[in-house]
Amino acid sequence: MTKIKEIINHLETIAPRSYQESYDNSGLITGNKKDVVTGAIISLDCTEAVVKEAIEKDCNLIISHHPIIFRGLKSLTGGNYIERTVIKAIKHDIAIYAIHTNLDNISQGVNRKICEKIGLQKPRILLPKAQTLNKLTVFVPTENSDALLNALSEAGAGHIGNYTNCSFQVEGTGTFQPNELANPTIGERGKLEKVKERRIEVIFPAYLANQILAAMHQAHPYEEVAYYLHALENKNQEVGSGMIGSLSEAMPAETFLAHLKESMQLHCIRHTQPPKGKIQRVAVCGGAGSFLLPHAIRQQADVFVAADFKYHEFFDAEDHLMIADIGHYESEVYTKELIMELLSQKFVTFAVHLAKTNTNPVFYYK
Ligand SMILES: [Zn+2]
Repeated sequence: MTKIKEIINHLETIAPRSYQESYDNSGLITGNKKDVVTGAIISLDCTEAVVKEAIEKDCNLIISHHPIIFRGLKSLTGGNYIERTVIKAIKHDIAIYAIHTNLDNISQGVNRKICEKIGLQKPRILLPKAQTLNKLTVFVPTENSDALLNALSEAGAGHIGNYTNCSFQVEGTGTFQPNELANPTIGERGKLEKVKERRIEVIFPAYLANQILAAMHQAHPYEEVAYYLHALENKNQEVGSGMIGSLSEAMPAETFLAHLKESMQLHCIRHTQPPKGKIQRVAVCGGAGSFLLPHAIRQQADVFVAADFKYHEFFDAEDHLMIADIGHYESEVYTKELIMELLSQKFVTFAVHLAKTNTNPVFYYK
């Protein structure tokens, strides 16, 4: 018996909600977290047709990439498809959960899936996010330092790329004098104490601060723990927008376009002037990606694969790179597979379906 909140917790351990953009509305939109899941349906968008499909398949949870409610609703009268979708879901006790820009912004997210489809090697984040890292400096008696570091590591501190237990430590002397009300672990009330201590420094994602401080207090022997918590300006290489990687072999632009069409199953590609040289470095962004064009150019991508470019934005490619606009739906449709993979890592007790409904509002006349 799996509850909706267990699914949310699992997905948000991978794609924390605090990584969503400020304009976004990821999270549970309708439904009750405490309900037991009868089945889940995964879709790029949540529309009335998807809710209908969920009812038919006896699923009480829809996991969509795009949030059906994006801006505030002022009425629920069924005046447009958003209101009708929400009303239908609520009437049938269906939970709608959206995992949007938080899934875009992680290194194992939407853009990694695109890189995988195109066959890009060593993909990394194109525009890493700042202000998502904290540093903790804590002072601890030397004999307790390993236990404390382990506790911090278990709570999520000191994980950098493929390394865990990353810390910096230096030994010194701590001094303190307990007053009459203190209950000191070491030393006596009213007497100056000198203790061999270690200063431990660890870095961690800022959203884990509360749980890391709790782990620190739990594992630390002192009544009053001396520590500093710092917000860092360092960019987090694991979190941010877009990705860039390389094809294992450089290829002419025409060959690349054919490869892109094939690997992403596209109807058509809107692109700028193909470069004369070969294509090897490829930047990607699922969905609207024109804001990343300067970053793709700066990092010397030969092509930028994204969607939702406006006419005038195509000019900005100049002769720096080729823009390949593959369509919003087409660029993100494999996000369904990604969510399915993330769920199957952990849950086997309920049915998970990829929505059969094609929610793309754009048609191509060929
Ligand atoms: Zn999108």
